[in-house]
Amino acid sequence: MEFFELKTQYRRIEKQIKKSIESVFESGSFILGENVSLFEKEFAEFENAEGCVGVASGTEAIQIALQANGIGKGDEVITAANTAVPTVSAIECAGARPVLAEICIESYTIAPEKIEEKITEKTRAIVPVHLYGRSCDMKPILEIAEKHSLKVIEDCAQAHGAIYNGKKTGTMGNAGCFSFYPTKNLGAYGDAGAIVSNDKKIIEKAGMMRAYGEKKRHESEISGMNSRLDELQAAMLRVKLKHLGKWNDLRRKKAAFYGKLLEKSGLALPEEKSSAGHVYHLYVARAGKRDLFREKLLEKGIPTAVHYPKPVHFHPAFRYLGNKAGDFPNAEKACSQVVSLPLYPELPNEKIEFACEKIIETMKQNPNSFETK
Ligand SMILES: *Cc1c(COP(=O)(O)O)cnc(C)c1O
Repeated sequence: MEFFELKTQYRRIEKQIKKSIESVFESGSFILGENVSLFEKEFAEFENAEGCVGVASGTEAIQIALQANGIGKGDEVITAANTAVPTVSAIECAGARPVLAEICIESYTIAPEKIEEKITEKTRAIVPVHLYGRSCDMKPILEIAEKHSLKVIEDCAQAHGAIYNGKKTGTMGNAGCFSFYPTKNLGAYGDAGAIVSNDKKIIEKAGMMRAYGEKKRHESEISGMNSRLDELQAAMLRVKLKHLGKWNDLRRKKAAFYGKLLEKSGLALPEEKSSAGHVYHLYVARAGKRDLFREKLLEKGIPTAVHYPKPVHFHPAFRYLGNKAGDFPNAEKACSQVVSLPLYPELPNEKIEFACEKIIETMKQNPNSFETK
């Protein structure tokens, strides 16, 4: 059993992928051609957004979305203390100072009631992270943003197609930022990312910023950079986008299967509220003595992973933020207990059954060790 693999999926779409690559080579156009603009149109449609700009990575999507919203040097941007490091790197790359906030232990997403205490006169934006494929509780976050005139840049790198109260994540704030890193729900065969927005001005600005600030070739209107999505990745992403809805459904079904089989296991399982259309980028449970639990499972042939072993403020690179151990008890607890179980659309149900059997066996063989409830 593998924690994750892409080969099965590739075998199923191999012909279409190879055809798409060939068509790019035949066209002779490799940068900002037809595939990029068609992918942008198709992905905007999928996410119910007015527009989309393809960029080179999820990290740069966040950086550019912040900058296109006027955020930079001297500004503070609030995000979750348990996020993937790139969220924070992107805030820094935009020139702003990241400010960490506590999370809810049930949802693993930013705790709306902990945001206001982090707001200073320098705060300009909130970056809610829809971690593991589950939307943040956006209603109170948007209300706080409105009250304090803050921008909301959603980190949707793990939430392609996720829904909150009928709305797609990425369309509720000022911009939504996606990563197409190969293991994401929609993954390229290399690095890629995108920004979506309902604000045409933001789309136009981000579109210029990703290509030297140019509106027309050889005419830079604003400061920019090179963060282009390339034609090859766009062509392959167009093939895979057609399957994304179905793949997300499969992830949900497999997550529900885990939920059923592990209901009485004693592990804390992902909570799905009706307001949150979870797309299960990851299936994350919590166990006490997590590292020992993982070792025992691996001995029985069940590979697991940890997303993420350390909260942001425990990384040497972010010591300068001045946070210390104990500042974010929920984020710290989550990082010490979370364990991701194998989950991807092609994962056979028999393997989930096998994994759950071994998990329950492990719990029984080690009483009062791994339970979290
Ligand atoms: C993957 C990821 C990113 C960064 O995306 P890249 O394409 O690797 O730059 C940002 N935020 C979160 C939450 C992610 O999971």
